[in-house]
Amino acid sequence: MHAIELKQLTKHYKETAAVDRLEFSIEKGEFFALLGENGAGKTTLIRMLCGLLSPDEGDASVLGHSILTDLDKIKPKMNMSPQETAIAPNLTVRENLEFIAGVYGIPKKEGKKRTDEMLELFQLKEKEREKTKTLSGGMQRRLSIAMGMITKPDIYFLDEPTLGLDVRSRRELWKNLESLKGDMTIILTTHYLEEAEALADRICILENGTLKALGTAEDLKKQTHSATFEDAFLAICDGEAGLYA
Ligand code: ATP
Repeated sequence: MHAIELKQLTKHYKETAAVDRLEFSIEKGEFFALLGENGAGKTTLIRMLCGLLSPDEGDASVLGHSILTDLDKIKPKMNMSPQETAIAPNLTVRENLEFIAGVYGIPKKEGKKRTDEMLELFQLKEKEREKTKTLSGGMQRRLSIAMGMITKPDIYFLDEPTLGLDVRSRRELWKNLESLKGDMTIILTTHYLEEAEALADRICILENGTLKALGTAEDLKKQTHSATFEDAFLAICDGEAGLYA
């Protein structure tokens, strides 16, 4: 079964089609990158998939449920990375994780177990007793992603996870994200092309709400005869709609 299947999904803002009859699928366990220049429709698409915005036309099936009629079944199965501002600065790393687990109704013992798992996975074990306001930006970002993941969602939205991080912190976070590949379906939005290329199984490029390209980074490079993924991205954005989809 697909994790997500878009069926002519459409959303307009006045005359602008922010998302225009999108139709593609995301597989279960896939690490899927959503790319596109500013205003391409990425946020509008994610808002609809999370149930924050209703489509005007079309539908999407998420884990086999329609976003039009079954949002209550879908919502508990997804989560997204909160911004670092969602972290309580005076609580320790461990306390933040255990607190969030409690908010989501995870029993105390299970919450502690999952906190241990997250500390390990995101290499925060050494810092577990430190107040989070003392952490570096990269560590705070790792903690915020861990706080979203502690609920073990089937679908996880990662919105610009490395925005503003220095090169080293970004590379470290990539390693963490790489190790998450597997059961969870991850949908990454980013403007860092090398991030999508390094992490994603497949990459989707949107423009003006329509699908411009869909495939592996290698596929897209080959199709556009580009040496780098950045060249491929620009060629696709300059090309005709649907050419690489
Ligand atoms: P960015 O990379 O800048 O975040 P995006 O790909 O997420 O862009 P969207 O925010 O989904 O793009 O916007 C798609 C289109 O819909 C744009 O033309 C935008 O101006 C328009 N739009 C988005 N939200 C609204 C709104 N609330 N009211 C009117 N127009 C909107």
